[in-house]
Amino acid sequence: MLDNNHRVINYLRLSVTDRCNLRCIYCMPEKGIRFMPHSEILTYEEILHIVRLSIQKGIRKIRLTGGEPLVRKGFISFLERLSKIEGLEEITLTTNGVLLKSLAVDIKNCGISRINVSLDSLRPERFFRITGRDFFERVWEGLEEAEHVGFNPIKINVVAIKGVNDDEILDFASLTLNKPYHVRFIEIMPIGDKNIWTTEKFISAKEIHNRIQTLGILQPIGHNTLDGPAERYALEGAKGEVGFIGALSNHFCDNCNRLRLTADGHLKGCLFSDQETDIKTPLRDGKGDSHLLNLIMDTILNKPKDHGLLPYNPRKCVRQMNSIGG
Ligand code: SAM
Ligand code: SF4
Repeated sequence: MLDNNHRVINYLRLSVTDRCNLRCIYCMPEKGIRFMPHSEILTYEEILHIVRLSIQKGIRKIRLTGGEPLVRKGFISFLERLSKIEGLEEITLTTNGVLLKSLAVDIKNCGISRINVSLDSLRPERFFRITGRDFFERVWEGLEEAEHVGFNPIKINVVAIKGVNDDEILDFASLTLNKPYHVRFIEIMPIGDKNIWTTEKFISAKEIHNRIQTLGILQPIGHNTLDGPAERYALEGAKGEVGFIGALSNHFCDNCNRLRLTADGHLKGCLFSDQETDIKTPLRDGKGDSHLLNLIMDTILNKPKDHGLLPYNPRKCVRQMNSIGG
């Protein structure tokens, strides 16, 4: 359906848990994180119910995210059930890849063929410094397994942080020469009160693009409706692609088709807005589907027009990224 700004809203990003097996410095630092009590997290049954209703309101694509979706117990059985729901055209997954090696084939067997793996460094010691865990090898093996079982495309999300991993931008871009990966550079966003975001750490998509051009010509690649906000390019002769997500610097709000469901059952029209609709309480109170459908419809209609953040001095969104899902 259309929101009040004439945008088609057909994409739901679903955070299935706020728990994670990594502690990325920009998302979920080691100390000071408040986890949701388990009783507040939507059960799989509740999630499936909300998904069925949101399909009635025009949702066609779902991305599963977290926290780390693969750490939640019973995730594969949930995925099997989700993939059987009629009316969804695509289900995708964003994972940190730590548990991917053993689960890739099961995920693929559920009919999921597109996957995003987050990886901010190709150097094991630095991976440890960014994520707090010594799991680089596991993620790398997870990526190789995903390739082996036939995921296509495999997107690698790299959050670029000045002074932390920006000296690896060319290494990541070069990876696409020999691997069929779609490496997507994401601007660091000021989400959560424990976020490390500062102007000094921010590096714009444009600057990353300029740096990669020192490697060779970046040929633009046509956009299709499933691409989302990434601007896509390929280096000459490359097997893979590079993409840029200017979450802050590039206003793609005009074309935003997203709705979000947090792990504790709140619908959000915008990642950066603190405006939320609690759908879990009425669901648990036994309110009927027509009431819940109205809540979904109101959230869509009142989706904020834009995130209203200036790239060089944004305020921080209060909720933590791991509970929204990125
Ligand atoms: N745990 C999974 C993962 O890391 O892929 C899924 C959840 S994570 C919140 C989803 C995406 O958000 C990841 O690609 C992560 O790098 C990105 N992300 C988290 N915090 C961010 C921030 N402050 N700025 C930009 N991207 C961020
Ligand atoms: Fe975990 Fe993903 Fe957040 Fe890193 S970005 S701490 S992997 S939820």
